[in-house]
Amino acid sequence: MTKLELLKKHFGYDSFRPLQEKIIDNVIDGNDLMVVMPTGGGKSMCFQLPSLILPGITLVISPLIALMKDQVDALNANGIAAGFFNSSQDTADQDEVIKKLQSNQLQLLYVAPESISLLQNHLNEVKISLIAVDEAHCISTWGHDFRPAYTQLSYLKKSFPEASLIALTATADRATRADIKKQLAIDNAREFVASFDRPNIMLEVRPGNNRMTQIFRFLNHHKESSGIIYCLSRKSCENIAAKLKGQGFSAAAYHAGLENRFRESVQEQFIKDEVKIVVATIAFGMGIDKSNVRFVIHYNMPKNVEGYYQEIGRAGRDGLESQALLFHSYADVIQLRKFAEGSGNSEVQIAKLERMKQFAEALTCRRRMLLSYFNEFLEQDCGNCDVCLNKPDFMDGTRQAQMALSAVYRMGQRATLNLLVDVLRGANNAGVMESGFDKIKTYGAGKETSWNDWQQYIIQLINQGLLEIAFHENNHLKLTPESEKVLFEDKPVRLAVIPKSEQRAAAAQLQ
Ligand code: ADP
Ligand code: ZN
Repeated sequence: MTKLELLKKHFGYDSFRPLQEKIIDNVIDGNDLMVVMPTGGGKSMCFQLPSLILPGITLVISPLIALMKDQVDALNANGIAAGFFNSSQDTADQDEVIKKLQSNQLQLLYVAPESISLLQNHLNEVKISLIAVDEAHCISTWGHDFRPAYTQLSYLKKSFPEASLIALTATADRATRADIKKQLAIDNAREFVASFDRPNIMLEVRPGNNRMTQIFRFLNHHKESSGIIYCLSRKSCENIAAKLKGQGFSAAAYHAGLENRFRESVQEQFIKDEVKIVVATIAFGMGIDKSNVRFVIHYNMPKNVEGYYQEIGRAGRDGLESQALLFHSYADVIQLRKFAEGSGNSEVQIAKLERMKQFAEALTCRRRMLLSYFNEFLEQDCGNCDVCLNKPDFMDGTRQAQMALSAVYRMGQRATLNLLVDVLRGANNAGVMESGFDKIKTYGAGKETSWNDWQQYIIQLINQGLLEIAFHENNHLKLTPESEKVLFEDKPVRLAVIPKSEQRAAAAQLQ
């Protein structure tokens, strides 16, 4: 049977999604791959379909223990011989899976990363054709959801040299992708990165005052719609859910402090549209396949852009118009900063939080900024975000852009945002003097522009994909392929005029 026939027979679909077919061909050819596709993009198909064609077993490593049984049941229902092995099973169930494995009755075997060592001996006795590492960002401390159990996976490639390895994730910037490949010992893996654009999700950011009133007003415009409200603490989940119920909305709280049984039932009721609104901590939604989520509200700011993108991505999977509403408050930023400071690699986490804050404060098209975070360049403003729909005044910022970009270049791409502003303004503080950047040609060239305006302009350049922050290199600013067009081809740049109120707010914040 051909790939397409198998797709139709086992999954009931008529065509492949973008990239799926190329990825599947590469997997069948035995290549190692690194796949980045947004949530809901159809990553599973990239190893499920090949498992029907390859001679040996496909081993799937996934941290989502709670979902394994459902996934495997669904595969079995589609006529695919799949099993799973994790710590939620009793020994009898585990033994049964091992027996099936030994007697070659499995095409696909899902295993939790912490359980794989228990299976090692049995795996050595069978032919493994493909290893799929799902949620592969969990192996990198540079990703946003590092899991220690994943570091055990580094030996997979050595233990099973004949199997090809496919790493899949929905969230990994360029540096994290490189780290994943290194750690899984698939340095030569081909990369496939699908577009992250979800044009049907309207992006909006609002100041976080009177949030509850704003939410009620929003919900009154979206009666009967399904949605998720994310917040930081378990307590606010409970409070908000109670307030919603008090006003007659169908709502439930969901967080890690609730009993498993209760959480499962909330999830099920949400999927069946029996509960319309779930108020959740980030624990909710991973792997949930519900297509008609009409809105995602962030009551609190997420700690980084990856998390934000992943969470809003749970809206509008059916392609219909949906809303993502983010509330932005400085109290949240301060609290998140404290968390970040207490975390393992605090420097990276703080920089990522800073980027999230810049997104919330952006004066340029939010989608352009969001996509530029994932190294994707949008040629035009999206027309479906609050900035696009309520445009600030723009000016020709080509000269400012050229000045900033050439300064970045002359500083050897080794300056942070603050240092760049200092150099452009001709500051003579220790940071500038010690680095010798007072000697470069653009030193002091932007004296007439205020510090805050420069800061805002540069953030806009980052948001437009003309500069990049290297989180893993001391947050130094780097040029991008797009910036070369501005520097060498005189491509014009538009910058939003910084409103006076923004200037005052920024000044007040610094005090
Ligand atoms: P991801 O793991 O990338 O978040 P999934 O693999 O769970 O996404 O796929 C999301 C949904 O898309 C699933 O319901 C899946 O059955 C469906 N899907 C996958 N491939 C196709 C396809 N070629 N055509 C139609 N639907 C597909
Ligand atoms: Zn826009």
